[in-house]
Amino acid sequence: MKLILFDIDGTLIQANGAGKQMLALAMEDVFGTAGPIEKYNLGGKTDTQIVTDLLRATAIPDHQIETNLPTLFARMVHHGQTVLPTSRAAPCPGVKPLLAALQGRPDMLLGLVTGNIEPVAPLKLAAAGLDPTIFRVGAYGSQHHDRNQLPPLAMKQATDLTKLQFAGYNTIVVGDTPLDIQCARANGAKAVAVATGRYTLTTLNQYKPDILLPNLADTETVLQLLLA
Ligand SMILES: [Mg+2]
Repeated sequence: MKLILFDIDGTLIQANGAGKQMLALAMEDVFGTAGPIEKYNLGGKTDTQIVTDLLRATAIPDHQIETNLPTLFARMVHHGQTVLPTSRAAPCPGVKPLLAALQGRPDMLLGLVTGNIEPVAPLKLAAAGLDPTIFRVGAYGSQHHDRNQLPPLAMKQATDLTKLQFAGYNTIVVGDTPLDIQCARANGAKAVAVATGRYTLTTLNQYKPDILLPNLADTETVLQLLLA
């Protein structure tokens, strides 16, 4: 059995800046500032890392950031309820048929590895018309600031769930940024990169993913590549 760990933003869905907006509103509520969020590259980073980087830039001390993270996460969920329904979030090309094809397979276990915090991930997926419950395991940006630390958490859940061993050799990480490719590498997993986020094929290619695709639209080809 293979474990496929999908990133959310730019890979499964386009949320049209909804995530950034929820984060900015929540940071203003809790810390009075969203720091230099307009100049900051969020791509591939965990929400915990984003918040920490942005608040450090405004000289808010680390202990104050850490203490207030649970409140901040609750405010993100709160703002999600108004921001997400108007975001026109949508699945990336081919995602719906691909997930439908993967979902029924006994040789594939679907999961998430995302910088989103745990309660926001299902909200975003549902806003884009995807069923969050098909992802049987998940590791989230609320669990660790460093994305590279997330796949082992999902692998352990997969092992607990199936009683089968999961490690890099039978895990695939699908993402849209150089940090997703590095996250796969750091865990010995296969790196699948898709150019449906902010990064072009040319840029992603520089990070040497195992598989590089313009998008996930060609269901048959993507299935063959994932099964290979
Ligand atoms: Mg992404």
